[in-house]
Amino acid sequence: MRMRIGNGFDVHVYTTGQGLWLGGYFVEAPYALKGHSDADVLLHALTDAILGALGEGDIGTHFPDTDPRNKGRASSDFLALALETMKAHQLRLENIDITIIGQKPRLSEFRGEISKSLMSLTGLPSDAIGLKATTTEGLGFTGRGEGLAVQASVLLTE
Ligand code: MG
Repeated sequence: MRMRIGNGFDVHVYTTGQGLWLGGYFVEAPYALKGHSDADVLLHALTDAILGALGEGDIGTHFPDTDPRNKGRASSDFLALALETMKAHQLRLENIDITIIGQKPRLSEFRGEISKSLMSLTGLPSDAIGLKATTTEGLGFTGRGEGLAVQASVLLTE
């Protein structure tokens, strides 16, 4: 059986605003994430993991931030493109595993909603979606609350 593994990593910086997109779910918060698109750092890491598994470059290759069409664009579009590309390779998602790295927001309050959103976007059952969060014990830019980082791993099978 043909199998492909991929990983993705992304970081966005916090800015002023009224909430942030995370995994296709809008988290209300007294801050936002800065980005050319909707700045959904989780969907960006996941999209890059899938594209990486396929040897199809990265999100910047397909959706350059110099292209005005990508301004404010929903990151679910980027994920949809990666999933279409995956189907063209005759592969499907087996599971995804995601780690959100930062001091805020607290994932425990939104885990269910983000998981549901990822089920809807990927078609995966809940037991094929790992969704975890960690702080960095106050260390580094995530520890200082300056930004949010996400790591994503995927396994693609025939
Ligand atoms: Mg990004």
